[in-house]
Amino acid sequence: MDFSLTPEIEDYRLRIRDFVDTRIIPLEADRGNYDEHDNIALDVLEEIRAEAKAAGLWALQMPVERGGQGLPIAGLAACYEEMNRSIFGPVCFNSAAPDDGNMIVLERIGTDAQKDRWLQPIVDGAVRSSFAMTEPAPGSGSDPSMMLTTAEKRGGSWVINGRKWFITGAGEARHFILVARTSDDSRKGLTAFLFDAEQPGWEIIRRVPIMGPEEHGGHCEIRFDGLEIPDDNRLLGVGDGLKVTQIRLGTARLTHCMRWTGMAKRALEECFDYVRERKAFGETLDRHEGVQWLLGEAAMQIEIGRLLTMRAAVKLDSGDFARKEVSMAKIVVSETLHKAVDTAIQLRGARGYSKDTPLEWMYRYARQARLVDGSSETHKMVLSRQLLDEGLDFWNWD
Ligand SMILES: Cc1cc2nc3c(=O)[nH]c(=O)nc-3n(C[C@H](O)[C@H](O)[C@H](O)COP(=O)(O)OP(=O)(O)OC[C@H]3O[C@@H](n4cnc5c(N)ncnc54)[C@H](O)[C@@H]3O)c2cc1C
Repeated sequence: MDFSLTPEIEDYRLRIRDFVDTRIIPLEADRGNYDEHDNIALDVLEEIRAEAKAAGLWALQMPVERGGQGLPIAGLAACYEEMNRSIFGPVCFNSAAPDDGNMIVLERIGTDAQKDRWLQPIVDGAVRSSFAMTEPAPGSGSDPSMMLTTAEKRGGSWVINGRKWFITGAGEARHFILVARTSDDSRKGLTAFLFDAEQPGWEIIRRVPIMGPEEHGGHCEIRFDGLEIPDDNRLLGVGDGLKVTQIRLGTARLTHCMRWTGMAKRALEECFDYVRERKAFGETLDRHEGVQWLLGEAAMQIEIGRLLTMRAAVKLDSGDFARKEVSMAKIVVSETLHKAVDTAIQLRGARGYSKDTPLEWMYRYARQARLVDGSSETHKMVLSRQLLDEGLDFWNWD
């Protein structure tokens, strides 16, 4: 197996690393550049996005004809990791969730007219987007078959009623992908639609306060009360909602892993100088075996996660759904991020727990990684089913 990068992808990777080091990390270091939800302030973001565009580092995941860079998923793996060495990074390159996953699924399954209307403005950075799936209990959560929000056909439109929550970015988004129930069929009961924030018939009930820093537009609870969606704004066929979700989440889960690997690496970077210079009990910290074990373990876990991520990326590029590979990467990388940041805080001592370093930000952020886009438990459930279906072929060599 060859893990080398093509010269083109290596060039992107190095240019992104340099951009993050010289342009984004200095912004991150100044509290004046943060909004009230601990993210990059929107005016600062607009300026740095213009710079990323001018540097030819914009929308790596999108085709060149739409203003992107047309990289394969394996190329994204190498580059997104570099982006998220800054907590501000991905959004500066238009590679942050949820726009990233929404763009990828619209590019893959939208009609040409849908792409022009709904995708292009997200690629351009003119609007933001949300993906609305999860509902309060007893509705759709880990198990989407419990979905309660309905879409009822009336003439040439669908009328939506119901409630969603934790919809990332909904406070700022203009373009929404919505999954709703169109029948009681257990496999083909859900359908995906597109709607614009300007349309009447829906509202934000509240921005749910969360433990961590927030994406722009927060995580919102929203209510649909007769929202009308023309049939032209349906994605794929009636009953294909689960398929749309699988296509979206397959890649979106993996791009999360790419970004989280970068964040885990940055967490360790935050202690390099400290452990080399700080003395305790007659030695610098890096000379103590207990510290070496912590660092060695974290470095190894990060490498395991990025190998799983790259393997899944290569399979997705080959046209495979890579379900088990994506699930394994999602479990390992989300848990590694949490542990790597925890290790880094421990090694930085009291200052690691302060707001003088980005580690406390990362720690609060990292906890969501084990829940979003399928919790660790549900991914293990999927893996177990696949193991029992495939037996020893689970571990094939392709
Ligand atoms: C920060 C954040 C952002 C989010 N953004 C979005 C978004 O943009 N759009 C969107 O639609 N949703 C979003 N979500 C929702 C997220 O996708 C759900 O939280 C997730 O799917 C789990 O659903 P739930 O919260 O209803 O938990 P539940 O389904 O109620 O699960 C609760 C617990 O039970 C466990 N569990 C469930 N099934 C099993 C099983 N078979 N075996 C063992 N344990 C099990 C789960 O692992 C979990 O620990 C977001 C959530 C967060 C926290």
